[in-house]
Amino acid sequence: MSDYNLIINGEKVTTGETFPVINPATEEVLAECPKASADTVDQAVAAARAAFPAWAATPDEQRSSLIHAIADKLAEHQGELMQLLTLEQGKPAAGFANLGAGFEFGGTLAWCHATADLVMPVEVIQDNDDARIEVHRKPLGVVGSITPWNFPLLIAIWHIIPALRSGNTVVSKPSEYTPLTTLRAIEIMNEILPPGVLNSVAGAGDVGAAIANHADINKIVFTGSTPTGKKIMESASGNLKRLTLELGGNDAAIVMPDTNVAEAAPKIFATALINNGQVCAALKRLYVHEDIYDELCEALAAIASSVTTGDGSGDVDFGPVQNKAQFDKVCALAEDARASGARFLTGGEPLPGAGYFFPVTIVADIADDTRLVQEEPFGPILPVLKFSDVEDAISRANDSTSGLGGSVWSADVAAATAIASRLECGTAWVNNHAMIQPDAPFGGVKQSGIGVEFGRYGLEEYTSIQTLQISKS
Ligand code: NDP
Repeated sequence: MSDYNLIINGEKVTTGETFPVINPATEEVLAECPKASADTVDQAVAAARAAFPAWAATPDEQRSSLIHAIADKLAEHQGELMQLLTLEQGKPAAGFANLGAGFEFGGTLAWCHATADLVMPVEVIQDNDDARIEVHRKPLGVVGSITPWNFPLLIAIWHIIPALRSGNTVVSKPSEYTPLTTLRAIEIMNEILPPGVLNSVAGAGDVGAAIANHADINKIVFTGSTPTGKKIMESASGNLKRLTLELGGNDAAIVMPDTNVAEAAPKIFATALINNGQVCAALKRLYVHEDIYDELCEALAAIASSVTTGDGSGDVDFGPVQNKAQFDKVCALAEDARASGARFLTGGEPLPGAGYFFPVTIVADIADDTRLVQEEPFGPILPVLKFSDVEDAISRANDSTSGLGGSVWSADVAAATAIASRLECGTAWVNNHAMIQPDAPFGGVKQSGIGVEFGRYGLEEYTSIQTLQISKS
């Protein structure tokens, strides 16, 4: 039995099987989660399909106000949802720079309200004596949402809300590592929505694969790793599903010699270590001009030495790495960097005892070809690299198969903006990194993904165009 429920056609569904969800701070079983089978996925898709015509025909303003109502209903459950986030994901309620569970919850409400207010008006291309030509946006049908474990609530909202706003129905599958907050949020959202409009299933990669393969799903929105994104793209070809893929990033930042180190260091630290570094668009490769290299390294090390890592249920800056596989990867990247002769300014070893705790680790004098620089660490470890020539820094920053975000830091904003525009990435920041907002499109180039999320551009990805041509002669 489980205290958590899948929701299909507005009903709580228990399945015969469950799987354990681990608290990463204690490594103990936090709860049993109902496990979906291929049949369960079929039922969820059938419910979403049946609900689609009425939801697509619901007046736009009504869908908008229901989404505002969802945000208000979630807000009533803030305490419960934030506590679940801490227990299953590991993040503290407040955490470093207030970027913990409260930040995720605040973002959830902000994205709901902002997306509820988006509109996609009919565009008139031509209106003369010959013809009137209008461009309409139509919902696609059933959207399959597959989400990861770093922001279990916020990323689910990023997928579900624009899909619903534009008239689609949804089947959502959270990560097997962090299903509980998402399932509970979907249960709460179903108090507002008509039955079948939003359904949930849970399980491991095979459940995700069943969604990606499903012949009656019209679009997949996926956030996760590049290898899984590629598998989903293959599966989607069966019925030409539309895709939005938000995959990994290995974001570079270039810090110019005129940067005010005292001002920039805390911002660089926060944007690299947000969510314990488990963020697709966190700053992950820091290229610093040789004139200020030592000063910035020292400033980052001083901040890293002052923060605490521990059980997110307590008053700490950073919680554990979310799961064992990711923890092992961070440990392996640290070991490899140490073997390469890199200089560890802080951290470098996992903390003793239970829980997937790895302290904030700043690594200097590290070569470009080490694994820590080449691979996305997705954890609390930051390599700091030196450059003397900005052209060299740009080419090293761009020497990556991923291209999600990038940034340039300098007192000369115009010069920094010119350099930022040469970075091969979906979002380039000047004097900041990892900052996103509900009205600005966000997505990756190269192998960081396909399509964008957020704002009008993101909303349009949940629609197809119907051109309406009315002849007048
Ligand atoms: P995955 O890409 O494997 O997991 C993300 C989601 O995809 C989960 O819900 C997962 O299910 C599901 N999934 C797994 N296999 C399939 C499949 N064949 N078809 C459909 N869905 C599937 O990420 P990992 O958890 O393995 O993390 C690995 C790396 O991914 C990290 O080190 C990091 O680099 C990157 N990552 C990027 C994120 C981002 O925000 N872009 C977020 C998380 C990770 P289940 O978990 O139940 O197996």
